[in-house]
Amino acid sequence: MKIAIIGAGISGLMSALELVEQGCSVIIFDQQHAGQAASWAGGGILSPMYPWRYPHAVNQLAQHGKSLYLDWNEKLKPISGIDFEIHETGLLIFDEADFETGLNYAQQFQQPMQHAEYLQAEQLAQVNPFIHPQFQHAMYFPQIANVRNPRLLQSMIGYLKQHPKVEFIEHCPIEQFNIVNGKVQSIRSQNQQTYFADQFVITTGAWSKHWSEQLDLDIPVQPVQGQMVLFKTPQNWLPTMCMNNVMYLIPRLDGHVVCGSSMAHCGFDTTPTAATKQTILAACFEMVPELAAFPIVKQWAGLRPSSPTGVPYIGKMPELDNLWANFGHFRNGLCMGPASARLLRQLILKQPTLLDPMAFCPTRLTANTLTT
Ligand SMILES: Cc1cc2nc3c(=O)[nH]c(=O)nc-3n(C[C@H](O)[C@H](O)[C@H](O)COP(=O)(O)OP(=O)(O)OC[C@H]3O[C@@H](n4cnc5c(N)ncnc54)[C@H](O)[C@@H]3O)c2cc1C
Repeated sequence: MKIAIIGAGISGLMSALELVEQGCSVIIFDQQHAGQAASWAGGGILSPMYPWRYPHAVNQLAQHGKSLYLDWNEKLKPISGIDFEIHETGLLIFDEADFETGLNYAQQFQQPMQHAEYLQAEQLAQVNPFIHPQFQHAMYFPQIANVRNPRLLQSMIGYLKQHPKVEFIEHCPIEQFNIVNGKVQSIRSQNQQTYFADQFVITTGAWSKHWSEQLDLDIPVQPVQGQMVLFKTPQNWLPTMCMNNVMYLIPRLDGHVVCGSSMAHCGFDTTPTAATKQTILAACFEMVPELAAFPIVKQWAGLRPSSPTGVPYIGKMPELDNLWANFGHFRNGLCMGPASARLLRQLILKQPTLLDPMAFCPTRLTANTLTT
């Protein structure tokens, strides 16, 4: 079976991996360089930021993130030569208003945060000595990890590019589906090339609304910009991830600390601004004042593929036999990525699924009121 995948972010690349491992041939397209959009820009926390604030369906996918990434790292590393570092730093959350709900949630569901603790000031200082003393207690999730997502993408791309059943076509925007009798026959690129396959998958992230008109569907996916600031500290300096008021710090193994992130509706603009940088810095220095002593080495912005509830669209698109969706992951596409792709592969290949696919079904998409 030949499968065409449109979009090479985490959703497309993971889908490609799942499918080639089952013996399918895959052709994967991206309008730019593969793996340079939201999936590169994200922080890589392997849990929704406050899981109890999300629909259960999001956490059901996210709970598989860490274990599936550990498996994929073992498989890809010998071939790609890249370790994408699943760094189990744990996460401290300082939002007091969430303590009771969060701890109850963790007790009830265990996943995706696994273990949870409430820390008093003394324990907090032991777990992370750099926290500002204004924070006298915290929720602690010692098993939440982060993945070094730019390396993850490089590793997946490296593996897929050497695979005999994979064709990779970059800098090739796909513009049009050619639909005959309820089936996609082929797709056409901006430079008028036509590509045939048996099945087609949309993994176009924040750009997914583009398909609304030709599929006659309302696809409610919008780009939501998020900015980040990167520090370089000594190796092993900051021991845990930290979060307060939806702002966070993520330590990498080599001492880089990723700080973010903002939320803005500004179309497809990915220009970082001085004002947002100041907002991020203020929030992060409030948690960890000593971070201010270290250099900032980068600032960037990415476009989250927002969907109304944050529950992605995964499964067969309405009315068409061979067109599939895996998009709309909003703030959690990296932690949901591996399980989303596994679910998609199981649906395409008619295999038993790792969870009930109903909550993700694209039949939620309604007819496009703009074009009718
Ligand atoms: C600042 C920030 C922080 C984040 N932090 C986290 C986090 O800590 N944890 C977490 O789980 N998630 C996080 N996210 C969210 C996560 O990054 C996204 O949900 C995820 O990357 C979406 O992946 P994707 O593959 O669907 O989209 P993308 O990575 O955007 O990939 C879509 C690809 O499709 C291509 N494309 C689009 N249209 C076409 C076309 N017509 N033809 C060909 N190619 C096309 C694009 O060029 C792009 O490469 C964060 C996001 C941001 C911006």
